[in-house]
Amino acid sequence: MVHTPRIPSYLPEDAPGAWGMFLEQLDRVEPHLGDLARWTDTLRRPKRTLIVDVPVRMDDGRIEHFEGYRVQHNLSRGPGKGGVRFHPEVNLSEVMALSGWMTIKNAAVNLPYGGAKGGVRVDPKQLSLGELERLTRRYTSELGHFIGPDQDIPAPDVNTNDQVMAWMMDTYAINHGAMHTGVVTGKPVTMGGSLGRRDATGQGCYVVAREACQKLGMQLPGSRVAIQGFGNVGSAAARAFHQAGARIVAIQDVAGTVHAEAGIDPVAVSEHLARGGQWSDLPGTTFLSREQFWQTPCDILLPAALEKQITLANVGQIQARLIVEGANGPTTPEAEDVLNARGCVVLPDVLANAGGVTVSYFEWVQNATSFFWTEQDIMDKLDRVLTEAFAAIWQLSQERGVNLRTAAFIQACTRVLQARAMRGLYP
Ligand code: GLU
Repeated sequence: MVHTPRIPSYLPEDAPGAWGMFLEQLDRVEPHLGDLARWTDTLRRPKRTLIVDVPVRMDDGRIEHFEGYRVQHNLSRGPGKGGVRFHPEVNLSEVMALSGWMTIKNAAVNLPYGGAKGGVRVDPKQLSLGELERLTRRYTSELGHFIGPDQDIPAPDVNTNDQVMAWMMDTYAINHGAMHTGVVTGKPVTMGGSLGRRDATGQGCYVVAREACQKLGMQLPGSRVAIQGFGNVGSAAARAFHQAGARIVAIQDVAGTVHAEAGIDPVAVSEHLARGGQWSDLPGTTFLSREQFWQTPCDILLPAALEKQITLANVGQIQARLIVEGANGPTTPEAEDVLNARGCVVLPDVLANAGGVTVSYFEWVQNATSFFWTEQDIMDKLDRVLTEAFAAIWQLSQERGVNLRTAAFIQACTRVLQARAMRGLYP
């Protein structure tokens, strides 16, 4: 009898990595999908996977080769959408998982997109600005017609930013002989980017946390928040929580971990770092070891770095009542079970960090119409999209007796697989 293998042959069966985590999450939702469950295998393999060689002429004349990826996990509800990550640990399994989470995220908040993700296996901190530009342009060029405003729309992710998006847009425009601002989102505001995009993911973390606190009877003003990661997501989230009166008691970044019971002003941190200051000499804070971060007494924990940070190894130390996943995939399924059993609520990545792609969607709409909205308009719309998505997912979790992640997956998979079933199989 013919049957569909669980792991595609292009991934090692014993080491599915982050993709294995995504598969476990799908297993948990499948029993809740009714008749649509017969389509679930659609989500257990990406629709399209592109692996490219990215040769770069280095400043000293050598030629280095980097692995580039773009995975379109699902296109049932619209073009692919998702960021591009530059990181030395990027691999196929990770990009596949991240693309799958984009499918779920976009459907969970009802954006008219499928899910995609890209990455280059590189440590950008080792490159000069010129090398980074050549890497970005060659990677974009290799993606060719795989991306486009109606095919698949990249955006920033870990270690990529508006400058990288500007190079991607420019390369695409040169290769296609025409300007298509909507080919990427997260662009600089001066060339078709949207107001509010830079802080959108962090702001979204705050919005869903605010809604969750209301349901849980927690007071957000005055609550203690610990944040892992002070990049685009962590720093913007810190500002939003701080502004709402929460106390940022601990921050962990790649270069260090700091603690201050009285609270840390995130704006002062950014200014200190911009002046060339170190985490270890941040005024008013105590420097901690990396492991101590997880034991910090706090009410809200916000992982905003990479995958698989909260695991069986450290979950026992975590004291928070609410976890807000700013990163993608920071909590392993086993660790989440332990947290849930203890009454700790996890706001899953596919909802908690959906603010970024939501404002990316606003950017894409503004590009299509060449009519730009005010920042207030964007913030109001972002708040509405996330508040409504939170309310629907919360209600579903109560009705079905499942955690918020499974509820978000039920919501999203139902939308994606309904579209899949209605479109039908070709031929
Ligand atoms: N990289 C972000 C994410 O993981 C944003 C994606 C986008 O804006 O397309 O959600």
